[in-house]
Amino acid sequence: MAERRAAVFLDRDGVINENNPSYVRGWDAFHFIPGSIDAVRRLSDAGLLIVVVTNQAGIGRGVLPAEALDDIHTRMCEQIAAAGGEIARVSFCPHRPEEGCGCRKPLPGMLNEAAEDLMIDPAQSFMVGDHFTDIEAGRAAGCTSILVRTGRGADELRVAGDDHRDELVVADDLAQATDFILREAARISAN
Ligand SMILES: [Mg+2]
Ligand SMILES: [Zn+2]
Repeated sequence: MAERRAAVFLDRDGVINENNPSYVRGWDAFHFIPGSIDAVRRLSDAGLLIVVVTNQAGIGRGVLPAEALDDIHTRMCEQIAAAGGEIARVSFCPHRPEEGCGCRKPLPGMLNEAAEDLMIDPAQSFMVGDHFTDIEAGRAAGCTSILVRTGRGADELRVAGDDHRDELVVADDLAQATDFILREAARISAN
């Protein structure tokens, strides 16, 4: 049996690009957070598989056309590829919360599906997000999970940080989360 791989699951809004409370509806509204492109490049260079997992209920609400989201993701991956990074997959949940799907974070559906398809070992893998729903999804999938202070992260920590203090890993941004991941990944593979 082929060996399962280590991956990094990345939330999109608030981690890779600036969060927008009313959805990023087009490429002109997609703004990379400083340092995020290079962070993805460093994770790729380390041999980690990168999977973006993003809730996009704007689709289910009819305010974000699927073609627009597809275009944003194509261009995002192109920009990252131009810098030497590689996104293996972009998974999105198009459902509204009340639809009760199994893919909307905090549920781990998108992570589990990618893990199955791409032969990922969750125990060697990481989830980075700016919301506690990301942390919950990552933990439910069995990954080490990191909250970043970018996007909604700083507010999340202020409001609910004490409820989630146990073993919570916090980083200023994806660049700092990447420092942590690369150290941990080296430690795991040395064991
Ligand atoms: Mg987010
Ligand atoms: Zn869903």
